[in-house]
Amino acid sequence: MNDTLQPCPDCAADMTYAMDALLMCPLCGHAWTPGDDETDAVRDAHGTVLADGDTVTVIKDLRLKGGSGVVKVGTKVANIRIVGGDHDIDCKVPGFGQMGLKSQFVKKVPG
Ligand SMILES: [Zn+2]
Repeated sequence: MNDTLQPCPDCAADMTYAMDALLMCPLCGHAWTPGDDETDAVRDAHGTVLADGDTVTVIKDLRLKGGSGVVKVGTKVANIRIVGGDHDIDCKVPGFGQMGLKSQFVKKVPG
């Protein structure tokens, strides 16, 4: 018996195969990480799933704690890291440095 691979979360096809660390669906071309429940995925303001290394833009002014500044709407943040929790994105904001952002306040920049 083969290991049972989870069906495709996108189209539910049961033809999943493994490629390196990813699972692939040959029908719709979807690729995902094993054990990654898409319902728990970190999504941006438009519901697009975010991943490590993505580039996002801030969609509203974000006032920083302690009144130390405002990250302006439209600020582009490259190479984000998904960390989970309340501020589920760890990233380096130009001019501000390392900080946590909430995924609902960003929008993925198509790569
Ligand atoms: Zn599929």
